[in-house]
Amino acid sequence: MATLLDGKGVSDQIKAEIKEEVAAMVARGEKRPNLATILVGENPASHTYVNHKIKACKEVGFISTHLQFSEDISEEYLLKKMDALNEDEEIDGYIVQLPLPDHIHKEKIIDRIKPMKDVDGFHHLNFGRMSSNLPCHLPATPNGILELFRRYKIETKGKHVVMVGASNIVGLPMSILLAKGHNPGDATVTLTHIHTVDLASHTRQADILIVATGVAGLIKADMVKEGVIVVDVGINKVEDPTRKSGFRIVGDVEFEEVEKKASYITPVPKGVGPMTIVSLLMNTLDAAKKTYS
Ligand code: NAD
Repeated sequence: MATLLDGKGVSDQIKAEIKEEVAAMVARGEKRPNLATILVGENPASHTYVNHKIKACKEVGFISTHLQFSEDISEEYLLKKMDALNEDEEIDGYIVQLPLPDHIHKEKIIDRIKPMKDVDGFHHLNFGRMSSNLPCHLPATPNGILELFRRYKIETKGKHVVMVGASNIVGLPMSILLAKGHNPGDATVTLTHIHTVDLASHTRQADILIVATGVAGLIKADMVKEGVIVVDVGINKVEDPTRKSGFRIVGDVEFEEVEKKASYITPVPKGVGPMTIVSLLMNTLDAAKKTYS
């Protein structure tokens, strides 16, 4: 039976640490960190994610400023609002919740965020600095996973990490961070994706397997070796008539069967999800302290 990597418990601990630091900042007469959230449209999942972020801000004593726009706002209007946030000294960091409507160019929006205020760590300048091991805001989900490894003292040096999924926000930065000489890092990384031939032949070699595909139950027990450390990033809604809501949330890993072979495993929910949110808070605190300016 694997040890659970309790993202919820660790994130609660980090939130308590941040809350203490914020209280000390305020006692010194400094301003409270302020995170702004931008949401375009009415996507219910996006609303839920943004609400979780706002709630987390309140828990640690940050100010949160929410900007809600209708689905049909123009790209130009959104860019103007972002320019105002970039200039606003009260705002330390902000996020633009993805996905955006089709008529708004995601990359153009991401690159308009002032890099110091890019607390999601999506700006291409932050991505480049991350790739060169320079100080920057790290992307929230990979940063949350690194923090989980740190807190559980999971050694990555010399280990074979197999990353399944190569998105710009999870798989690609995760594999860069673990391959570099960060702490944790110095791993040998295999990056796999939808076009990888014979995925199982790669996943079976993993000492550490990280999965971020959005395919429920993709990883089965016969695809992992005994003792593997498993991090499941996936969030998938599947029908479940036994639940009042009619659905439940599962990851990309068949938890019940894989857990029997793993040494450590993240649950879904309460694994990587809360670590992503707390990572956003850590980045916002850094932005407020001007750590990278
Ligand atoms: P994405 O759609 O941008 O990328 C998915 C990646 O998985 C792609 O590289 C694709 O090639 C790969 N892939 C898809 N099917 C595959 C298959 N059958 N075999 C191998 N590779 C395959 O997704 P994303 O934004 O990286 O998100 C992935 C999942 O993680 C989603 O379920 C998302 O909701 C979740 N997510 C969770 C958090 C969190 O905080 N827990 C954060 C971000 C994303």
